[in-house]
Amino acid sequence: MALTQTQRSKLERMLDQQYQALLEEVRDALEKSENQQYVELIDRAPADSADQASGDALADLNLAIIDRHVREIRDIDATKVRIVEGSFGTCIDCRGDIGFERLLAYPTAKRCFVCQRQHEKTYAHEGNPTL
Ligand SMILES: [Zn+2]
Repeated sequence: MALTQTQRSKLERMLDQQYQALLEEVRDALEKSENQQYVELIDRAPADSADQASGDALADLNLAIIDRHVREIRDIDATKVRIVEGSFGTCIDCRGDIGFERLLAYPTAKRCFVCQRQHEKTYAHEGNPTL
């Protein structure tokens, strides 16, 4: 069962809202880390971190948050591309329908539940399997 127009519109609205919220949070986090620190952290060579390690746990924390948000924003961007291409809601592995319920919980899902489980099993050593 492919998505109906109504279901797809609902998911698109959810994605837009998440996207805006993420942008807000990134902006916030950037302000808190005062941009300057952010730039310094990015430019900093990995080897000389000893001097600065004590300095900015907060900036590091913000950086981690920003990093995660930016990845989520990219996920949403990729999902919007799939909406335009017409492959949204289709599993990238088995080409089956991902299903509205799963997309409601996880609008950027690229795989159906079965393939996601398989994927996580395959790459379990790399990450944090969910469920
Ligand atoms: Zn699948």
